[in-house]
Amino acid sequence: MISVSEAIQHIENHFSKMPLVIKPIEKTLGYILGEDIISPINMPPFKQSAMDGYAFVHSNNNDYLVSGEVPAGSNENFPVNYDEAIRIFTGSRIPDDADTVVMQEHTERKGDNLKITTLPEKGANVRPLGNQIKIGDVALKTGTYLNEGAIGFLAGLGITKVQVYKKPKVSILVTGNELQKVGKKLKEGQVYDSNSITLKLALKQLGIKKVRISKVKDTFKAIFKTIKIELKKSDVVLISGGISVGDYDFVKQALHDNEVAEVFYKVNQKPGKPLWFGYNDTTKVFALPGNPASSLSCFYMYVLPLLKAHLGYSNPYLPKEKAILNSDIKNKFGKTLFLKGTVENGQATLLDGQASSMLKSFAVCNALLVVPKDETLIEKGQKIEYIKLI
Ligand code: AMP
Ligand code: MG
Repeated sequence: MISVSEAIQHIENHFSKMPLVIKPIEKTLGYILGEDIISPINMPPFKQSAMDGYAFVHSNNNDYLVSGEVPAGSNENFPVNYDEAIRIFTGSRIPDDADTVVMQEHTERKGDNLKITTLPEKGANVRPLGNQIKIGDVALKTGTYLNEGAIGFLAGLGITKVQVYKKPKVSILVTGNELQKVGKKLKEGQVYDSNSITLKLALKQLGIKKVRISKVKDTFKAIFKTIKIELKKSDVVLISGGISVGDYDFVKQALHDNEVAEVFYKVNQKPGKPLWFGYNDTTKVFALPGNPASSLSCFYMYVLPLLKAHLGYSNPYLPKEKAILNSDIKNKFGKTLFLKGTVENGQATLLDGQASSMLKSFAVCNALLVVPKDETLIEKGQKIEYIKLI
């Protein structure tokens, strides 16, 4: 059985990036930029006023004659003498001769005569050409997450298309004779299938929407056949359940018979010991334990980084931080523990309901508290490392 850090390293060895695709910017929300974007223009593209007011040549003079007006969008370039001011508006082009804008509120105007009541500093309220970014400079780097702000920034530079990493196609294969579809009546001995929805939504959070979901009974034939199909359809296959040592756990054999090479099976952790990872050609396969908390824990720790690497993130891991523990935590298992907790104002609280079958703590946690395998006790008041989930 390998350690958590070995498992993470094995998976990192299989990180790869998806191919690049060119998309119109309005279709790139949530994608990762696959090229450095060079600004094709200066921004602002001209010396621009940051205020409604008057442009003038800075001096100690307080009295001016208003000799012109430049509304936003006008390309008028009035000459400006030292005793003249140009009426100007936010976003207007400032005449070449002027160097300062006084805000309207700091002036008094009578007809074409203007008195400056509070003299601004030289250069005030002027956005110089290329103040935000200059032509030829890198606007955004490869690996940038494209949110609405980033896309708006690109739009402001007149960029219409960018290269991004494609989203991986993912298959979820849920095994279990006992599973009932949510919405149907539970019969004796059945439980609702929650893993398919949890995993599907975890993928959705990453912007991965092309997800094929198959539900199969615990027969070797059905599992073998479905794996065979999904390997061809997807970049990443997630299998839920059937990877333990029970008589109806056929996933490992079915993966082997489908020539999915095993990278590792079983990690010295709790929850999620029977995690399996392998690959067939370029398709990566995770067999996740069926217990809902194990499945989700393994998703965050192992599946998510691999998917983020595929998506082009420069740092695919969830953030790790430290907090002060509110109560003692014992570890008598010799395993790395991932415990659902909450962290608020630097204080970590362990939640009730840590069993691998229970999702109730996952429902309200914002962190996975990490207890290393060799630590038998972390005492109240000590620092504990945690993985930030939200
Ligand atoms: P397995 O890994 O197949 O041995 O399943 C371990 C436990 O997880 C069993 O109690 C299953 O009933 C439960 N389980 C397996 N798959 C799911 C699922 N999709 N949704 C909810 N519980 C599941
Ligand atoms: Mg099962």
